[in-house]
Amino acid sequence: MDLGIAGKRALVTASSKGLGRGCAMALAEAGVDLTLNARGAAALEATAAEIRDRFGVKVTAVAADITSDGGRAEVLAAAGPLDILVTNAGGPPPGMWNDWSRDDFIRALDGSMLTPIALMQAALPGMMAQGWGRVVNITSQSVRAPLAQLGLSNAARTGLTGFVAGTARQVAPQGVCINNLLPGTHETDRGLSFDRAVAEAEGIPLAEAMARSTARIPARRYGTAAEFGAMCAFLCSVHAGFIVGQNILMDGGAVNLTM
Ligand code: NAP
Repeated sequence: MDLGIAGKRALVTASSKGLGRGCAMALAEAGVDLTLNARGAAALEATAAEIRDRFGVKVTAVAADITSDGGRAEVLAAAGPLDILVTNAGGPPPGMWNDWSRDDFIRALDGSMLTPIALMQAALPGMMAQGWGRVVNITSQSVRAPLAQLGLSNAARTGLTGFVAGTARQVAPQGVCINNLLPGTHETDRGLSFDRAVAEAEGIPLAEAMARSTARIPARRYGTAAEFGAMCAFLCSVHAGFIVGQNILMDGGAVNLTM
């Protein structure tokens, strides 16, 4: 399928590895020019070089912390006018509800709620003025079904979800579609970090911790960054103009819901 977005310009934040990288790859395959971002320059430059080599699109890479005001300003300035925005950042750490301080909540809100909101506030006016735009926010299955040890994530991402629900309907008349993509467990550094912690705590091999975890997923496996990216690219395509304000789970059926 031709996604109809060749030559468009996208910013994908937090995209040197994992799900953000998967989204960048899929957009590049569709012919989209990219601005990529991560804090660490080495992995970021390696991903940028691989995308240029494989797909021949323009790639600008900006090493910066997207959750800081300065980092965000640097990334947005390098990106210039945007047709497509994919927001992503590292997720908050796990813990216990009674341990989290006000500062922990502020950090989680900054990273998982206020950063994507600030990026949208920067990108939406240009998209609305030109009458076309696509925004995909990478959130989490935890907005549909809580993961208790990820209470900081549950709280902050649900706040973002509420913001998107209203805003998506306000910008849709100008041809701009905002949707959220909700990953279940994917085989990335972050996805595997929970199995690594279980393996270490219980003194079992990583493979055993992964087998226990995948047994709870109807698809009996973790998702891949490539299939996550393919869905993201579809949501950014010309074919997705009637998809507005949705929360799309990619979790292999793990969240047990009728709707
Ligand atoms: P990952 O494999 O650990 O990759 C994270 C990427 O984000 C890296 O490129 C990292 O590079 C970059 N990054 C992290 N913090 C950043 C920051 N402050 N500024 C700029 N770049 C930053 O993680 P992932 O699995 O792709 O997860 C992506 C998001 O999806 C996270 O919010 C995660 O919580 C959420 N999620 C993931 C899963 C899963 O199973 N994978 C499930 C549910 C939700 P640097 O470290 O160099 O900055």
